Amino acid sequence: MGPGLDFVDLPSLSAAVHDCRRCPLGHSRTKAVPGVGPGDARIMIVGEAPGQNEDLQGEPFVGAAGKLLDQLLRGIGLSRGDVFITNILKCRPPGNRDPLPTEAEACSPYLEQQLRLIKPEVVLVLGRHALGRLLPGYDSISRLHGKLVVKDGVSYIPVYHPAAALYNSFLMGPLEQDFKAVKAHLDRVEERRQVVAAATAPAAKPEEQLTLFG
Ligand code: URA
Repeated sequence: MGPGLDFVDLPSLSAAVHDCRRCPLGHSRTKAVPGVGPGDARIMIVGEAPGQNEDLQGEPFVGAAGKLLDQLLRGIGLSRGDVFITNILKCRPPGNRDPLPTEAEACSPYLEQQLRLIKPEVVLVLGRHALGRLLPGYDSISRLHGKLVVKDGVSYIPVYHPAAALYNSFLMGPLEQDFKAVKAHLDRVEERRQVVAAATAPAAKPEEQLTLFG
């Protein structure tokens, strides 16, 4: 990690991204797009890079792919306000070209720190670029989508990128199924939490038991 890239909180990380010139995209962008969402989100969503709309507005997933993302979240009972959304790259590559490895490398401390600060219960890895970056050496998106991968104590579920499903409608069904897998994972985490809480809760005092049953 570079000097000064160990952040105490998300606002200081965002401020650093807005000032960042660690790669040439810092000079060509309109607005940097650090990410949005609550610092205690259970889900972190990681896409590829800001596109034209995101570059103008400074927010991730505000275009057509973002609308589909909102719809998929609604399908599992969540809204955008429940999740933290960010990208591998925090600045738009010109003409929406694929991220370069050097750009992803320069930007990676921000994502690492976001993961460390948010500690999400699951990271949704959107599409092959995010997959290649977050789970290098793992299988392709077509084999891994919808499956839980635990690496270095972090739970990941790769899913098709919403933009890919807008382009190829055959991916829409699998994408909806993948979001159901995310919901099932969150439900399992919550169940486990409740079992642990019940097992570690102090036993009720006799007078409390009387009020409960008397
Ligand atoms: N918008 C984003 O912010 N990221 C993507 O990967 C695609 C659209």
